[in-house]
Amino acid sequence: MSKPILTIYEEQLAPVKFRQRKLKVFGEQEDKRIALDPRQDEEEYLDSLLHEMCHFLDPEAGEDVIRQRTAVLSFTLWAMGYRRVRL
Ligand SMILES: [Zn+2]
Repeated sequence: MSKPILTIYEEQLAPVKFRQRKLKVFGEQEDKRIALDPRQDEEEYLDSLLHEMCHFLDPEAGEDVIRQRTAVLSFTLWAMGYRRVRL
């Protein structure tokens, strides 16, 4: 049996609060709060959301690892047609 890539702890399953606001970066994550800048295009927005979620799920991972994971998730979801829909 293969070793899991990362372990998800129960406290990480608690809801994450999302906010949209103008930032100097695409997104930021602290505790259980993620803020995303809504001025990004749809592909950047998806990438930023996944990037911050990866930080949330594995706070010990380095930036290179986070970017690698984000790229795989973002590319796959974008290719499958997942997008932010502005209601
Ligand atoms: Zn990061």
